Amino acid sequence: MSFKPANNIQDLQYFGEFGGVNPSISDSSTYTFLSAKTMFDTFEGNADGCYLYSRHSTPSNLYLGEALAAMEGTETANVYASGMGAIASVILQICKGGDHIVSSRTIYGGTYAFLKNFTTNFNIETSFVDITKLESVESAITSKTRILYCESVSNPLLEVADMARLARLAKKHNLKLVVDNTFSPLSISPAKLGVDIVIHSLTKFINGSSDTVGGVVCASQEFVDDLRNVNDGAAMLLGSTMDSLRAASILKNLRTLHIRMQQHSKNAMYLAKKFEGLGLKTVYPGLASHPSHDLFKAMMNEQYGFGGMLTIDVGSLEKANELMELMQNQNLGYLAVSLGFYKTLFSAPGSSTSSEIPEDEQEEMGLSDGLIRFSIGLDADIERTFQKMKECMIKLDVLEKETA
Ligand SMILES: *Cc1c(COP(=O)(O)O)cnc(C)c1O
Repeated sequence: MSFKPANNIQDLQYFGEFGGVNPSISDSSTYTFLSAKTMFDTFEGNADGCYLYSRHSTPSNLYLGEALAAMEGTETANVYASGMGAIASVILQICKGGDHIVSSRTIYGGTYAFLKNFTTNFNIETSFVDITKLESVESAITSKTRILYCESVSNPLLEVADMARLARLAKKHNLKLVVDNTFSPLSISPAKLGVDIVIHSLTKFINGSSDTVGGVVCASQEFVDDLRNVNDGAAMLLGSTMDSLRAASILKNLRTLHIRMQQHSKNAMYLAKKFEGLGLKTVYPGLASHPSHDLFKAMMNEQYGFGGMLTIDVGSLEKANELMELMQNQNLGYLAVSLGFYKTLFSAPGSSTSSEIPEDEQEEMGLSDGLIRFSIGLDADIERTFQKMKECMIKLDVLEKETA
């Protein structure tokens, strides 16, 4: 693939108000107009380059949105106070009461809860399907379906969506294909595969320092204009607006994303191979044993690797908890939810980030009790990290001494 997302970010040249190398931060909630007529035109959406009120847009938020649109290769983008803010606004913008959604069943727990428990209050129903089985996706589509929803690499099972084929399916049935690309920024460019709307939680890899929440919707100018419409736009009216100070700091972190993703992927690949070599049940898209390894390879922008997320199954929740506590104790990472941090983070999704999913459904989708999800950090010496992790596993009899 010839799409070069990091070059697109690199090539953005923004000057600050006083010639600063970073764009100036717009520290205002409201903006003056020199003429009353321009204020009226701005409300009507007809005055380009004029700012109205910071829930609508701010210069800092537009800079960040423009950079993320460049990364994903979409016309434009709108940033939000959180990933859930972005997801909720896309779904409620497209769907009205009586509409239907077909969604992957392995998605972020908050998204799952929103579709299963919240949008149902507005008579928007969702069918959850195995996104890797195109036939079951297609057979769930009805005349009321508006959205086909999935994650490019799913949380926490790391299933990979065949976005080019899903895009053809969406086109055939006149649906919007909405993809959450939080787990694979730079590695996968969904819009280049035909996806209509690309969402990120900026909280994770893109910001990368676990100091803020944020979200973005990358899409066509027409859809983003709809989201921001003062009369019926979900972004404008639901109000999950990002603060300009945060937009400025996330934009600075975005500038180093390509280097961080390469290191996250390199370290995760190293550990995944070693864990699998020890006989641990390991899931990582970079392993040949992963059911969608070839698909990921065919879609990826190669130099960014297979991402920083991997899972192992240590048999039971008790073992998983013991191991995570010991690894934290040995300073190998934090027992914490979230991902994309410079230190390794680990959690047991069944009892935390995916606990919104009922236990029988967890079992059906292969989300076992002993599953540990790792977001691998930027460790300079990953071999040292591995040796220490192995020692923890031996100590707790997760590994037999002989195999180790
Ligand atoms: C964290 C996450 C979200 C939600 O984002 P917030 O910034 O926490 O609101 C959505 N999707 C995925 C895949 C996530 O990991």
